[in-house]
Amino acid sequence: MENFDVIVVGGGPAGLSAAISAARAGMKVCVVERGDYPGTKNVMGGVLYTQPTNEVVPDFWKDAPLERPVIEQRYGIMSKDELFSAAYRDPAWGQPPYNAHTVLRVKFDRWLAEEAEKLGVMIVPETVVDDLLYHGDDVVGVRTTRPDGDLGAKVVILAEGANNFVAVKAGLAKPLHPDSVAVVAKEIIALPAEKIEDRFCLEPHEGATIELFGDSTDGILGTSFIYTNKDSISIGVGAMVGAMGRKGWSPNDLLENLKAKPYIKRLLQGGEIKEYLAHLIPEGGYNSVPKLYRQGVMVVGDAAMFVNGLTREGSNLATTSGLIAGKVAAEAIQSGDTSAQAMSVYETRLRDSFVIKDLYKFRNLIGLLENNPHLLGEYPEMLNQAARMYFTIDGTPKTEVFKNIMGVFTKRRGKSGLVKDMFKAWRALK
Ligand code: FAD
Repeated sequence: MENFDVIVVGGGPAGLSAAISAARAGMKVCVVERGDYPGTKNVMGGVLYTQPTNEVVPDFWKDAPLERPVIEQRYGIMSKDELFSAAYRDPAWGQPPYNAHTVLRVKFDRWLAEEAEKLGVMIVPETVVDDLLYHGDDVVGVRTTRPDGDLGAKVVILAEGANNFVAVKAGLAKPLHPDSVAVVAKEIIALPAEKIEDRFCLEPHEGATIELFGDSTDGILGTSFIYTNKDSISIGVGAMVGAMGRKGWSPNDLLENLKAKPYIKRLLQGGEIKEYLAHLIPEGGYNSVPKLYRQGVMVVGDAAMFVNGLTREGSNLATTSGLIAGKVAAEAIQSGDTSAQAMSVYETRLRDSFVIKDLYKFRNLIGLLENNPHLLGEYPEMLNQAARMYFTIDGTPKTEVFKNIMGVFTKRRGKSGLVKDMFKAWRALK
């Protein structure tokens, strides 16, 4: 049996960041990845944030296969035929050090794995980790599905993504619940760069993102996204598995509905579907975070439910948790103590970081939206109706317009309903 200091299960951003951080600290590291190579199995919208990635590979933007730096972020609230949207654009985001880039994970993860290899990390592809190896209660490595596939390790980092079977087997996580996981259908649609730039008002080498709520998921808790790549557009719709099942939708139905909307159709016109992908996003938030460590083991990234669905953040939480876990693993091994107590430093540092702080901040949001479906069902309609009244110039005096707009909300929700909704939202976010 080959022995390592650290074995990482899964070669996504969490696993590769953990591997790089442990290797930098002098550890002998192995990443076991079930895909043909890191990235083949991975799906993301995908917006990759600069700050955490820069900690993994400084100035990564000089070499990494990136699509476009994001200079505009648009948020839209859809009703059946209308769209109420707001955007923020900053051309400075198109220059180093950048805020975020769009990426295609199949290219990016492979590149990151090569960066890990440069530091001596061994990547073992096409290999599934089936379970942890134990000596008594102590974890001493992993069991893979290959014949003679046991690998020894002082510390194992579980970075297996949303399908966290090994963490479940190890008694750290519970099986995914349909109300805490979203399923996303995504297409990559090829379109010439000039068309993308014309349609999204971009200069060459600038990118834009659009996030849509409301009717784009038929009011189900979830979002839709449209991101510009170099010469393709990523479009996808994700919604909670449980709610989608109860409404009888499939993610593909939602995606087809979205693509048929006039505003969206125009953005994609003439494009050719290059890839269709589907993936899970663990969106249960803080209340679904599993036990994060035990003797010789830490759980990072999506496997630990580190996704902030509201702000479309996942890769950065994955990267940051990976970086912390890799460092904690190295410190524990160097001090000769890989006990649960030594691993608990991982959780302490995570709690001091934005990862747990942000998940905690939004801990009640999923429950609020799940238990109050009208917030994503009725409010988008009311908001669009109000916008139509505000922007229609037909001789109605403004005092009356504002009264009519108030009427839109009070008629549907009642004054006390509105106050209750505002109070619930305030309580969930305070
Ligand atoms: P993953 O990226 O899922 O990597 C897990 C790896 O483990 C995979 O390579 C897998 O093959 C491997 N693996 C799994 N089980 C085993 C096993 N037993 N043995 C060996 N290998 C195994 N986040 C953002 O920040 N921005 C976005 O725009 C964004 N958009 C998204 C859009 C979609 C459609 C989806 C699905 C997610 C999106 N996210 C986004 C979330 C983001 O993709 C994840 O949070 C992030 O990829 C988590 O990284 P990870 O390394 O924890 O898991």
